[in-house]
Amino acid sequence: MKRSYDFHRVRSHRPYTIATLAALLGVDKRTVRRWIESDRLDVAIVEHSRPVILLGSKVKAWGTARQRAKKQPCAYGEIYCVRCKTPRRIKPDSFLIVQPNQSKLTVKGECCRCDLTLNRFGSPANRAALEAEFGPKRPDNPAA
Ligand SMILES: [Zn+2]
Repeated sequence: MKRSYDFHRVRSHRPYTIATLAALLGVDKRTVRRWIESDRLDVAIVEHSRPVILLGSKVKAWGTARQRAKKQPCAYGEIYCVRCKTPRRIKPDSFLIVQPNQSKLTVKGECCRCDLTLNRFGSPANRAALEAEFGPKRPDNPAA
């Protein structure tokens, strides 16, 4: 199931039929109809039109507000877990920093609930802050 849609592709000044909107967002026409029936996308409909015409500006506003409402920002020390579908802390003993080159690094750690490896990408300039945020200091390469 697709969880986010690219509503930035919807043009504000254009009208859309259910079929053209579905094709633009890469969803089935029934998905757009379900949004209309259940989610107040009806404010975007030009009344009494056949076929149903949706106003691009209102579809775009509805879609971006919907996406924003679904966001789950991580608190300090949390990384989003795609398996748990919520921000989680990492196990302190699994904390690891991997730096593949001069310009980027990755904080790795296991989810405290499901053991999935979580990644947080960052900059070497923020390394000290990331170490303070995510756990006890460990060497980059445990084998060394
Ligand atoms: Zn998890």
